[in-house]
Amino acid sequence: MVVVGAGMAGVQTAVALREQGFTGPVTLIGAEPHQPYDRPPLSKAILLGTADGSAFDVDFASLDIDLRLGCEALGVRPAEHELDTAAGPVPYDVLVLATGAEPVRLPGTGQAPDVHLLRTLDDAERLRPVLAAQHDVVVVGAGWIGAEFATAAREAGCAVTVVEAADRPLAGALPAEVAAPMTAWYADAGVTLRTGARVAAVEPGAVVLDDGARLPSGAVVVGIGAHPATGWLTGSGIALGPHGDVLADDRLRTSAADVYAVGDCTSFPSARYTERLLVHHWDNALQGPRTVAADILGEEAAPYDPVPYFWSEQFGRFVQYVGHHAAADRTVWRGDPADPAWTVCWLREGRLVALLAVGRPRDLAQGRRLIEAGRVMDAEALRDPALPLKQA
Ligand code: FAD
Repeated sequence: MVVVGAGMAGVQTAVALREQGFTGPVTLIGAEPHQPYDRPPLSKAILLGTADGSAFDVDFASLDIDLRLGCEALGVRPAEHELDTAAGPVPYDVLVLATGAEPVRLPGTGQAPDVHLLRTLDDAERLRPVLAAQHDVVVVGAGWIGAEFATAAREAGCAVTVVEAADRPLAGALPAEVAAPMTAWYADAGVTLRTGARVAAVEPGAVVLDDGARLPSGAVVVGIGAHPATGWLTGSGIALGPHGDVLADDRLRTSAADVYAVGDCTSFPSARYTERLLVHHWDNALQGPRTVAADILGEEAAPYDPVPYFWSEQFGRFVQYVGHHAAADRTVWRGDPADPAWTVCWLREGRLVALLAVGRPRDLAQGRRLIEAGRVMDAEALRDPALPLKQA
């Protein structure tokens, strides 16, 4: 068994193979030189220096996992069952692709020294001194990463401006009525949010916007999305989707025999949501590996069809989302978004399909069960935040 990518999905796959009883050789290959680590703390405790590291608590040696770090995979030849790496070819019986995602760069900024991304431990370590020096910081993108970075930078005492091309934060993830109350979170935290604005140029000490405005900046942090890290599969014949995602089936098998894909690099068909999902969140990288290991080992496993879940910690709030909504779904508010805690539910034909909870983890836990069960909800009871979530 050879697993490529030593992030959450790759590590969990190697561990799940052992947990599910596989006793043959397992090799885990990762491009980064560091002991495999968890990414969510990078935009939180690690950035602020309140935690030193986030290495996974996994004893690879005692699990007899052959961990090869600092080794980049360069290509796959499925017909030969061989992986090409910077250290030479590696034969496999079964290969698991878990190379995650890489951040989208701001066009035209290349390797500019004061323009940062936030995906890796090295990125976070480069940003720590920026925060410690309390530079003026311009954040490009008001998505999940942009909001979390802005939170940390304010906490460190930086002056922060967030530049967002859309008319609101989280425009790609949430409808306008739900994102609208979040706009106020920026101002409350002392962050300047400039929506409907695009970066025209990054100059030494300043970011120039397309309306001519010049924003002083000691550093620029770009958080404008990520795409699957699958460029290295070009020419392998493994089918990729429009976003560069590895096209997997409902057991996370790819188009090539004996090759699986899991985590941020892959999409899978969801019968629950009747569409293909490409999920870039931690819980998907935790759950998918169990399906992969079970299928490899020939166990009868249910199709991979999770109710997606993620969380974000921003501006002193704990934001959680579970499910998957579409524009046509009906929104039901539970609580006042001007308050510190509130929830939004999405209903389709009376059934709960998604829920966003701000500071209401109990709603999240109850909602998750109800979404999984596909229950028809009592919409009136949903509106009352004092009542538990319940079915009709
Ligand atoms: P990755 O974690 O990206 O790991 C893939 C690994 O593969 C990397 O180490 C990479 O170096 C390696 N690799 C890539 N190409 C090759 C190659 N050719 N050869 C060998 N190795 C290769 N999600 C949440 O739900 N909540 C959060 O609060 C949250 N916070 C986040 C904060 C940050 C800063 C980031 C970056 C992500 C956050 N996420 C969060 C998302 C979550 O961390 C990811 O969904 C998760 O890490 C995906 O795991 P993965 O193993 O699929 O990919």
